[in-house]
Amino acid sequence: MNQKLFDYIKASPTAYHAVAHTAEVLAENGYTHLCESDPWTLEAGRGYYVTRNGSSLIAFRVPTANFRGFMIAASHSDSPAFKIKENAELKDKNYVRLSVEKYGGMLCSTWLDRPLSIAGRVLIRTEEGVRALLCDLREPCALIPNVAIHMNRNANDGASFNAAVDMLPLYATGNEETTLRTRIAASLGVAEADILTTDLFLYNPQSGIEWNGLISSPRLDDLQCAFCSLTGFLAAAPSSSAPVYALFDNEEVGSGTKQGAASTLLSDVLSRISEAFATSSEAYPRRVANSFMLSCDNAHGIHPNHPEHADRNHTSTLGGGVVIKYNANQRYTSDGVSAAIFRLMCEEAGVPVQMYANRADMPGGSTLGNIAQTQVSLNTVDIGLAQLAMHSSYETASAADTESMVKALTAFYGKSLKMEADGLYRLK
Ligand code: ZN
Repeated sequence: MNQKLFDYIKASPTAYHAVAHTAEVLAENGYTHLCESDPWTLEAGRGYYVTRNGSSLIAFRVPTANFRGFMIAASHSDSPAFKIKENAELKDKNYVRLSVEKYGGMLCSTWLDRPLSIAGRVLIRTEEGVRALLCDLREPCALIPNVAIHMNRNANDGASFNAAVDMLPLYATGNEETTLRTRIAASLGVAEADILTTDLFLYNPQSGIEWNGLISSPRLDDLQCAFCSLTGFLAAAPSSSAPVYALFDNEEVGSGTKQGAASTLLSDVLSRISEAFATSSEAYPRRVANSFMLSCDNAHGIHPNHPEHADRNHTSTLGGGVVIKYNANQRYTSDGVSAAIFRLMCEEAGVPVQMYANRADMPGGSTLGNIAQTQVSLNTVDIGLAQLAMHSSYETASAADTESMVKALTAFYGKSLKMEADGLYRLK
């Protein structure tokens, strides 16, 4: 299972590639591609997927025309990275560097002294207008060098990184004549003059590895959840509810984009599905009331060298199973009801769960579940897998937990929830 996860991550160096690869897997499994601007003709018993901006995706199956509600699992396609600016080259007599800015909040030190590659989206002119193409140079083609300790004797006493100075990647020596744009055009087989704009990122091309019961890989946050929920979505047995797989871009920058979790994407898709099989105007709100969402994003495992950062009674352990995340201020959506429902599902599936909360004096992060509530409001629980070094360019998690998450998600997608009354839920 972890090798499959590494293959999924390898095919997904950026959010655009994660969505394109996920779409490919769905198409191979018989899912039909829908375009938001076309009329949709949906048939019961079939599966579909739709993308927005090439970086967010929603897939679903319609079990029967009178399906009860939606069983949704949402994760995110993006990770913190360095975005390459439009006028990329910074040239002097010694070097060519690339002009970059931060996308999201990464651990800067983990990007130093390792071969980096470049991938993303390139917009080219066509005879009729504009077309987006995916680009991945695959091989190492940039590196952000440290300053030698001889020039920075305090390097090991805590470091600060200025994104405009310390984090500019070296691209080539000053003698290099070929520009990045020439190379991108050649890799795509297009004329350089036809490139209008780009959305390109540096990424760590290192492969994932399994070692001593652990896994290390780039982008475990959040492609581990994206992969596990996709695997569970495809494997689940049919139920009376429609399973929905959601992969959102821009979680790392607050989700407030046209394709992020704060956008209308989820509500647009759910309401269109419901409308296609509606017998009354009440169908959509009734189905939403009978729905449930998992907001899937990795969690902080207790750190081997710094256990003091964890809450004593709410640590999450690597290998301890699926983590249910709590926050009293509702940065995580979990509450008594949603956590109880999910806990019961995991119990029945034989999947271990562990309860996580930040130390009361640490604000922690937030994720996509609570943001999506502003567009579609339904019972939601925040879950994830324990990992170390979140937002490092190479993260570490447990080898066994991938399987636990797939098992939990397969069970979840095979369930149907019925709200008998506010506070009374049937899971069969
Ligand atoms: Zn995340």
